[in-house]
Amino acid sequence: MIYTENQQEIGERIDADVSKTIWNDWRWQVKHRIRSLQQLEDFLNLDLGEEKRKQIQQTIKKFPLSITPYYLSLINTENFENDPVFMQSVPSIQELEMSNEDMADPLHEDQDSPVPGITHRYPDRVLFLVSNVCAMYCRHCTRKRKVGDVDNIPSKKVIKQGLEYIRNTPVIRDVLLSGGDPFLLPDEYLDYILTELGKIEHVEVVRIGTRTPVVLPYRITDDLVNILKKHHPLWINTHFNHPRELTECARRALAKLADAGIPLGNQSVLLSGVNDCSRIMRTLFHKLVANRVRPYYLYQCDLSEGLSHFRTPVGKGIEIIENLIGHTSGFSVPTYVIDAPGGGGKIPIMPHYLISWSTNKVILRNYEGVITTYKEPDSYEPVFCDRKCNDCTLQLSLDEATEYQPVGIDRLLADYSDTLSLVPQDNERMEKRENGEGQD
Ligand SMILES: *Cc1c(COP(=O)(O)O)cnc(C)c1O
Repeated sequence: MIYTENQQEIGERIDADVSKTIWNDWRWQVKHRIRSLQQLEDFLNLDLGEEKRKQIQQTIKKFPLSITPYYLSLINTENFENDPVFMQSVPSIQELEMSNEDMADPLHEDQDSPVPGITHRYPDRVLFLVSNVCAMYCRHCTRKRKVGDVDNIPSKKVIKQGLEYIRNTPVIRDVLLSGGDPFLLPDEYLDYILTELGKIEHVEVVRIGTRTPVVLPYRITDDLVNILKKHHPLWINTHFNHPRELTECARRALAKLADAGIPLGNQSVLLSGVNDCSRIMRTLFHKLVANRVRPYYLYQCDLSEGLSHFRTPVGKGIEIIENLIGHTSGFSVPTYVIDAPGGGGKIPIMPHYLISWSTNKVILRNYEGVITTYKEPDSYEPVFCDRKCNDCTLQLSLDEATEYQPVGIDRLLADYSDTLSLVPQDNERMEKRENGEGQD
């Protein structure tokens, strides 16, 4: 493990007896998280000034502060106001500026929750919040409403209820452990949850969302990796937002996970003043790929309370994606998504590449601006699909094929469904019909 001069200095300000070994101990890092303004200034050896001090103090009352000594050590104090690490971790008075569209729970995670800790939004997968604790409190957290609220591990009873719900709900084939940060749980507890999930036959994959490789890379110990290895197929998604975060330490943590055969993904959030720049993003995604991490999602900043100063126009995200598609490796390009307010789930946003089409041709443009045609087949025999797959010439062995009900546009497209239109719930015209006001 690395131990920079800066880290030694900060370490000694925290604890005179610090050594490389102690600094690299994740429990020491968690125990010595920076929780107060005084500690922040002392450990950074930084004078924030009267005004800023007052503002931060005021913000902390509503949205608490927590930074690991490691993440703190990445701050460049020479230019801290514009430092991406500082901006993601140190409270700003702007968090108290509520805008009209701000919501405590914009994604309606609590409303789509059948039992505490579980959000069941999509048909085949669930979000399972197994931890309320984070090493670092991200200023842009979408679950700010929960942060520091009950700063403890959800009770074993809640976890058992969640497991019971998954066990009793056979459509769930994918479980996403999140929080809080699941990797702040003790090894044995994580092992228990993964073991229980492993026993459920219909659960095909488990994913863990963690920011520890970014803010607490020492958490990725050999012991932890040895536990994770027992629970394949296991996927991990992490959360790097800026190339500066990919320190040698972080890269080693990622390498350990990748060496254990765990596919790694990254979810970034587009943040004004931190990474709203095509060049920064391209660098970040290239560095991730070089470290065996596939950029998975790029999120438009949510409408959670206290995030308005971080939001960019959607056009900024489209511009960033425009700058990537075609220009670089396909697997370096994440899907840009808006998580729909009201619980609609993630909606992908893309630049337009399909310009026009006729009955036998589509007109496309590429990343260079070249406009091109694709000639469609003259002799395609559309097969009327009645979902009688046994009689179909396309071969699918049905014992392996999952059945599902078509939903939304998918249902309108399906020959085997007689749905003609999708009608909004409060459509007056349809209500009139139901009330018999129209003529038959
Ligand atoms: C993001 C999310 C998922 C997982 O979505 P994927 O697109 O499969 O990564 C599942 N449940 C909830 C509630 C989510 O927000």
